[in-house]
Amino acid sequence: MFATDDTIVAIATPPGRGALGVVRLSGSRTTEIAGTLLACATLEPRHATFTRVVRRPDSAERSNTGEADPALDEVVATYFPAPHSYTGDDLVEITAHGSPVILQTIVRSAIASGARLAEPGEFTLRAFLNGRRDLVQSEAVADLIDAATPLQARVAFDQLDGTLTERIEAIDAQLFDLIARLEASLDFPDEGFHFVEPSRAAGDVGEVIAAIDALLAGARKGRLIREGVCVVIAGRPNAGKSSLFNKLAGADRAIVTAIPGTTRDLVTETIDVAGLAVTLVDTAGWRETNDVVESEGVSRGERARAVADLILLVLDRSEPLTADDRRLLDQTASMSRIVVLNKADLKVGLHDDDGAPASVGADLQVGAGDAIVVSARCDQGIDRLRDAIAFALIGDESLRDEPSISNERHITLLENCRASLCAARAAAVQENAPEEFLLADLQAARADLDEIVGRRTSEDVLKHIFERFCIGK
Ligand code: GDP
Repeated sequence: MFATDDTIVAIATPPGRGALGVVRLSGSRTTEIAGTLLACATLEPRHATFTRVVRRPDSAERSNTGEADPALDEVVATYFPAPHSYTGDDLVEITAHGSPVILQTIVRSAIASGARLAEPGEFTLRAFLNGRRDLVQSEAVADLIDAATPLQARVAFDQLDGTLTERIEAIDAQLFDLIARLEASLDFPDEGFHFVEPSRAAGDVGEVIAAIDALLAGARKGRLIREGVCVVIAGRPNAGKSSLFNKLAGADRAIVTAIPGTTRDLVTETIDVAGLAVTLVDTAGWRETNDVVESEGVSRGERARAVADLILLVLDRSEPLTADDRRLLDQTASMSRIVVLNKADLKVGLHDDDGAPASVGADLQVGAGDAIVVSARCDQGIDRLRDAIAFALIGDESLRDEPSISNERHITLLENCRASLCAARAAAVQENAPEEFLLADLQAARADLDEIVGRRTSEDVLKHIFERFCIGK
């Protein structure tokens, strides 16, 4: 079980210096511990109190020196009494100047007074355990903090706001009603009265399946929005990969994040393409050094291509196709790719090795719509390329209708729930099938919904979910 009766403390703002920094303290001894840190006698609930924070030497030190506690900083402290706080427990937020030294001293003083350093996500975990937020909303807090594009943030906030929870609850209520009527039929078998006729039950289950299908319809788009996508730029040396990378990254620079699975040596940048967080990977630069590094670079490039959602294969339109170009065209033929014909500002020189003009569409088996002509140097065709990237990733689906569901965990559970409901529907129409079968499937379906919102979620799953939070959240 999670320990919830001690008082936890952590810095809630990011590491490093800033104008302001916040320390959070929550648990049953919050006011008592805050009292030892702050110069003011009491904190009025939900009011910003301008006061001072003092450094508390331990009692032995104090009795030796007999000195008053030295002031550490001017702060604003806010007290949120239980249950109307972020965690549902008493909570105090101390806003100091954003100096790591000051913030760490406040945390150390709180620990000396009896608090414990919070684990990652522990404030949000307490909010969940205290029923302030369900699991979907708790996960949305982490998604909101991690969002790299405004669209990601909007989808996460919608879930934090309870949109998905409401839809899950509505489906759950339908199921609950059906289960209650079936159980009533089973409880009073002698009366020969069926609270649910089998054909009616199949129809009712069908309605629940339809509601789930409506929710799952946005799942692919939601998953792409939440997870982001990986687009790898490939091409032989000098085709203009780095120039294209810089052009795309420079124009759309979003938050820089490292994508798991790629090495430091691949240059990556996360950019916003039509609201999607696209991690652009440049595989360039490694062939030009000595052999060992060259081959390592090539294999890293190959690994990056293997995990890519989309490949931009850059060809130099001003030169004949080389063996390297052809090899890459072959290797990527069955992958999701866009062929980028770069250096459009120069005279066309792209032709086959035998000197015949290259017909990119026919000879190279590149669909006509696949090739985009650009000039990375002259900023030509870059907007069209960006549109083509968005189209290749999401097709015609509009990103304006934000999907309700985006988290892989929710999607998988909802798919399981749907499978149980299909089994239930089949059981309902089967002649002489005992109602218990139908009931068992419906209960299994309901268990999946419970797991989504966190009513029945194992401790391991909860640990896994809250571990990805930052400390102080
Ligand atoms: P990479 O090796 O594939 O990453 O290629 P670079 O981006 O380093 O570019 C190789 C050379 O081609 C550099 O001299 C670039 O300035 C030049 N280059 C890249 N894109 C263009 C373009 O669109 N037009 C012209 N004329 N030169 C380009």
